[in-house]
Amino acid sequence: MAYDSENIFAKILRGEIPCNKVYEDEYALAFHDINPQAPVHTLVIPKGEFVSMADFTAEASSELITGFFRAVGETARGLGLEEGGYRILANSGENAHQEVPHLHIHIFSGKKLGPMLTKY
Ligand code: 5GP
Repeated sequence: MAYDSENIFAKILRGEIPCNKVYEDEYALAFHDINPQAPVHTLVIPKGEFVSMADFTAEASSELITGFFRAVGETARGLGLEEGGYRILANSGENAHQEVPHLHIHIFSGKKLGPMLTKY
């Protein structure tokens, strides 16, 4: 899938749309989800044009991949989530119901999150 540079997270990265920032470095930006599904619901996005995890890991530099995953850990740590625990999740494509076509990792916490998925 080609990257759509008009997607909402691209606009947030360019500063065209505001976000409630949690963490930022040269590799990643983290901000609170606009429609939280848990008391803590934060998104971490890489700085670059990547649609999905497969796209990112195939196309990004090793430095960016490392920096991005460090930023995910740093965001969770900075939110104080290490002790109580948290869940990370990334939706890719239609089956996963990915709404925004820019790779993002969700961080959920702030309550007991229950089982990972409901049974199908
Ligand atoms: P997906 O379903 O693609 O994994 O998740 C997209 C997430 O982005 C959703 O949880 C949705 O609430 C969030 N979202 C969509 N538009 C915006 C926005 O403009 N700002 C923020 N902060 N989050 C957004």
